[in-house]
Amino acid sequence: MNNVALIVQKYGGTSVGSIERIRKVAERVAGVRAAGHHIVVVVSAMAGETNRLFKLASDLSDSPHPRETDVLVATGEQVSAALLSIRLQALGHSTVSFLAHQLKLQTDSNHGNARIRSVDAARLTEAVGSGNIAVVAGYQGVDAKGDITTLGRGASDLTAVALAAALKADACEIYTDVEGVFTADPNICPRAHKLKRISYDEMMEMAGLGAKVLQLRSVELARRYNVPLVVRSSFSDVEGTWVGQEDESMEDVLVSGITLDQNQSKITITGVADRPGLAARIFGPIAEAGIIVDMIIQNASADGRTDVTFTVGRDDLRRALELCRMMAPEIDAAGVRHEDHVAKVSIVGLGMRSHAGIAARTFRVLADEGVNIEMIATSEIKISVVVNAKYGELAMRALHDAFLGEGSNAATAESV
Ligand code: ASP
Ligand code: MG
Repeated sequence: MNNVALIVQKYGGTSVGSIERIRKVAERVAGVRAAGHHIVVVVSAMAGETNRLFKLASDLSDSPHPRETDVLVATGEQVSAALLSIRLQALGHSTVSFLAHQLKLQTDSNHGNARIRSVDAARLTEAVGSGNIAVVAGYQGVDAKGDITTLGRGASDLTAVALAAALKADACEIYTDVEGVFTADPNICPRAHKLKRISYDEMMEMAGLGAKVLQLRSVELARRYNVPLVVRSSFSDVEGTWVGQEDESMEDVLVSGITLDQNQSKITITGVADRPGLAARIFGPIAEAGIIVDMIIQNASADGRTDVTFTVGRDDLRRALELCRMMAPEIDAAGVRHEDHVAKVSIVGLGMRSHAGIAARTFRVLADEGVNIEMIATSEIKISVVVNAKYGELAMRALHDAFLGEGSNAATAESV
């Protein structure tokens, strides 16, 4: 390559999970530098380290203060950054490591899940401009008081994208332990395959639906600043998946991916009086409790009474049920029922915008498998169905083979 590029690379926890792995990462980084490119490397904590640190805190207190927890858990990334920098120097490269406060990576004070307000790229620009490899601790920030914050689990991706945006980098490469973004989880769908590219919008849906490969907020930020992202493996040289702006040919593919969320519960409030303000009275207290409600269905009312069904994450079921039982008499409800384990299967694809019949085909595939659909929700590029937890994996495989099996995914009039 004759053009010098500025590349931000991010290495996840398994990629820097041992001294041996850090050596390998250093070799990869050194190779890119040797080709003349400017590099900023963002690292996660070594695999398991962040969980270990959280556990230490919870061993000492039932409710450790988030400010102190952030001081603790931010150390994982500091260790990785220093170790990688040390190794690169041992290979003869000049490097500078940076923590968030040194880059003025400013956030709000929402400890544990802070939002980035600004980044000052000057020190990074200066460091790489004078021939250094910059190594940055991911996941952390600093608030207006100068206190250490963290950006949320998995947020080293976000650090990398934020720096790539601030530096107007040519690419942001996310190195992980899988070869890219797959059409489905290969552990569940043996025929899942790697995508060559996917649009920001599809990737956002998939990340929001639980595809673990990229953190959701990092994809949102990449989209906003048009940062070209590539997800690839640090364990091989296989080409990864590009995440970027959509182009026309992307709509020719009906479906890009299928996701499965096995961690949902379903609550039904039965026989409520169908009056204005009903939904507000049910969902107001639930939202105030910080519980995220996903799908909501309200039936047409018969005799002025209706059922309202919705899903919440399994971790929130107990609290959501308590709230519902408390409000049931107030809204004159007949009862509260729940199913503590349901599965949500979703199909994501830009092609849905321009091709009719995908929903109908989805329902046909599930009917042929004898899977009963309990709830349905759609958006412009997504169809989600809730099914009995037992059938989640079966539903995913059947839909994957129907939409993404060989020769099944070309958007022709006949195929929809
Ligand atoms: N170490 C942090 C976590 O485990 C951030 C990251 O890995 O991206 O969530
Ligand atoms: Mg990650």
